[in-house]
Amino acid sequence: MNNTIKNNNNFICQIINKDFKKNKKLSFYTRFPPEPNGYLHIGHAKSICLNFELAKIYNGRCNLRFDDTNPLKENIKYIQAIEDDINWLGYQWNGNIHYTSEYFPKLYEYAKELIKKGLAYVDQSTKEQIREYRGTLNTPGKNSPYRNRTIEENMELFKKMKKGEFSEGEACLRAKIDMNSSFIIMRDPVLYRIIFTEHHQTRKKWCIYPMYDFAHCLSDSIEGITHSLCTLEFQDNKCLYNWILQNTSVKNHPKQYEFSRLNLEFAILSKRKLKVLIEKKIIQGWNDPRIPTLSGLKRKGYTPSSIKEFCQKIGITKQNNLIEFSMLEHCIRKELNQTAVRTMAVLEPIKIILYNLEKNHKEIFIVPNHPNNPELGTHKIIFTKIIYIERSDFKEKYDQKYKRLKLGEEVRLRYAYIIKAEKIEKDEYNNIISIICYCDLNTLGKKPKNKKNPAVIHWISVQNTLPAEFRLYDQLFNIKNPEEKKDFLSYINSESLIKKQGFIEKQIGINIQKNIEKDNKISFFQFERIGYFCIDYLDSKKENLIFNRTVSLRDPWNLKNKFK
Ligand code: ATP
Ligand code: MG
Repeated sequence: MNNTIKNNNNFICQIINKDFKKNKKLSFYTRFPPEPNGYLHIGHAKSICLNFELAKIYNGRCNLRFDDTNPLKENIKYIQAIEDDINWLGYQWNGNIHYTSEYFPKLYEYAKELIKKGLAYVDQSTKEQIREYRGTLNTPGKNSPYRNRTIEENMELFKKMKKGEFSEGEACLRAKIDMNSSFIIMRDPVLYRIIFTEHHQTRKKWCIYPMYDFAHCLSDSIEGITHSLCTLEFQDNKCLYNWILQNTSVKNHPKQYEFSRLNLEFAILSKRKLKVLIEKKIIQGWNDPRIPTLSGLKRKGYTPSSIKEFCQKIGITKQNNLIEFSMLEHCIRKELNQTAVRTMAVLEPIKIILYNLEKNHKEIFIVPNHPNNPELGTHKIIFTKIIYIERSDFKEKYDQKYKRLKLGEEVRLRYAYIIKAEKIEKDEYNNIISIICYCDLNTLGKKPKNKKNPAVIHWISVQNTLPAEFRLYDQLFNIKNPEEKKDFLSYINSESLIKKQGFIEKQIGINIQKNIEKDNKISFFQFERIGYFCIDYLDSKKENLIFNRTVSLRDPWNLKNKFK
């Protein structure tokens, strides 16, 4: 698996290459700046891969900086989760973890510097007034009545703000730029607001908090970041980013470059909306396998390498588009196709009685764990008179198109014999209890004489079972772009999780049971003909193994893109 940005000729690499041409000694430095207000998702992975991989390619460094300027929304539990997810992806940030809050004292000094230069003022307008005065894209803004306060007055008031002498919303610090700017962001943006909430890092030390735009560029500069990469929605913020750096006495002037966010089919990536899904108990939590958080994907069976492969495949551009979900699935399927152990499981069992076998008939077959990779070894399966097959592999009513087991017709049992269905046994409610079949003992590993090979189905001997739960996932939404919809909750797919009670091969189950007590190692399987599965390490218990379906076997993305 290639974990680096293979074609390092995306537009950001071209910019960096030029920068290196101008300055051979450039000390390349990036950062990943999450807000600790939720878990990381596949969109963040795009940004993480970009920042950390570029640091590798250019012999540079990448910082992890928590952008913790809003104590109302942040929570310490998210900090640990974010660190764990980055490590899980296989990245290590440079040195210590950084926090924007670490720089609050410095940021305060820079704010005072702007005031002293007559470039910032304390505004006591209400939120609504500030909004109204800001104007719109078509109308210019209006100056605040507090805009022309003296430097001394502003200094005094800002200090009062810091001391907690104003209440929330009563005053804020604004940059004095241009209320007529065609960039609305430049119409005297708010730099500091008052929040009387304890901060997870600085506790009760501060009651004024810098806004993102003020804190971000200065934190980048303090850390010596050279290339500050962010998503396209910050394009307009760049003029403010540069204005603040130019008007404060900072030494480093990092450059901001924007790339398009990842939008993924059937997925919600907005943390705010993901929180709604959790609060409304539509999903189990941040690690529900139906959402594309990194912990959800991990639980569903995605590996770090498959996620990196996906990020590499989507590339870095300035075009906003919706990426096919099947492309993400392709990446994990391709990997598991090479690595997952193949075994048989029956999700919805129905009994087969092979009437011509002795009651104690027992054969042991040694079967490969992978058809093309002998290194993965073999395992034993038991063949007996009574076995289970998948309910959906039998059809009672005659259907010419149906190619699996039907009355009077044959199928091959995987690794074993050809059988023919002759009779059905039903209970008083007309439910099938068992199918009575003839087992052709001349067909082990042999093509039937004068006949076509019949379809192959999977099975498990009743003597070789361990009960298990299987969780089959489908998309959480039944429309391709739920993120676009305000009423996204009206598009929930009620069948996004289906649970089945069936059987796995006993020995495989016993091995998992041993591991489950030792560590939470995830095991990956291909249950033949059904899909790729992994053990659900959260809900599984020794006596109740649960498997999550990672992905089905069919690869529509590959079929479509194979010849491109
Ligand atoms: P949300 O809107 O879901 O809250 P966010 O952008 O506020 O997301 P942050 O924690 O601020 O989330 O994001 C940290 C970094 O990850 C930022 O640099 C941001 O641009 C990047 N990022 C977030 N979402 C995506 C995405 N969908 N695609 C690419 N990068 C993303
Ligand atoms: Mg954000």
